[in-house]
Amino acid sequence: MENLAVITGGTKGIGRALAEKFALNGWSIVSCSRNEKDLKELKESIERRHKRVKVYYKTADLSVKRQVMDFTDYVKGLQKPVQVLINNAGVFIPGRIQDEPDGVMEMMMATNLYSAYYLVRGLIGDMLNRKSGHIFNICSTASITPYINGGSYCMSKYALYGMTGVLREELKTSGIRVTAVLPGATRTASWDGTDQPDERFIRPEDVADAVWNAFALSPRSVVEEILIRPQLGDL
Ligand code: NAP
Repeated sequence: MENLAVITGGTKGIGRALAEKFALNGWSIVSCSRNEKDLKELKESIERRHKRVKVYYKTADLSVKRQVMDFTDYVKGLQKPVQVLINNAGVFIPGRIQDEPDGVMEMMMATNLYSAYYLVRGLIGDMLNRKSGHIFNICSTASITPYINGGSYCMSKYALYGMTGVLREELKTSGIRVTAVLPGATRTASWDGTDQPDERFIRPEDVADAVWNAFALSPRSVVEEILIRPQLGDL
């Protein structure tokens, strides 16, 4: 049977590292992002290097509910059991609640929180029927630590972390594992332009390794939270 992991935002950064890690272990991937060219490159690159692995994709802007639902329908239309769902896609726009631009809060809540909520609701039925599955939500240290210039990003990540805890309680007896992943500063494109050296950041591959290791435990155990910081501490 084809092992299938849904990873949103699999084209760059942490999502790309996750796609590479699961593919390396023989898993097929379903992903989405807003950029079709990047998705095509993801598919060609992974399928060239991993002959048994398939990459399925659909362009979707996850800040738009209709497009999240279309992506969900696309995944269901593949008619393959989804064993892993990783809600990774997210955006970070720095700002203070008192003066960040109007609309930024709604956009980040839609992208970072609502998309995960709709995807879980759309894909959970099959996991419940099979009594197995693993949901990872890529939260952040911003899910547990408020900071100036974190603004609506912090709000959205606190909420995603809250949703993850509720899901864990709801699904405890269903055979479905739920894990919150809380990385600190991770060197991805979202940090381009920084004057901090790479050594101050977590590697995206380390986040992917931690997720894979949590997944690889027996179904009797669940890693509820993965909190990762740069060795030198938060930026
Ligand atoms: P990244 O390098 O900017 O990549 C984000 C991925 O999500 C890309 O594939 C992007 O593709 C996709 N994406 C963004 N907005 C989207 C939208 N509206 N619809 C569909 N896809 C969208 O980001 P990253 O740094 O790897 O972050 C990944 C996750 O980790 C995020 O949830 C982020 O909040 C979280 N995180 C990051 C850090 C960090 O320091 N990097 C720390 C803690 C948590 P397109 O742009 O082409 O759509």
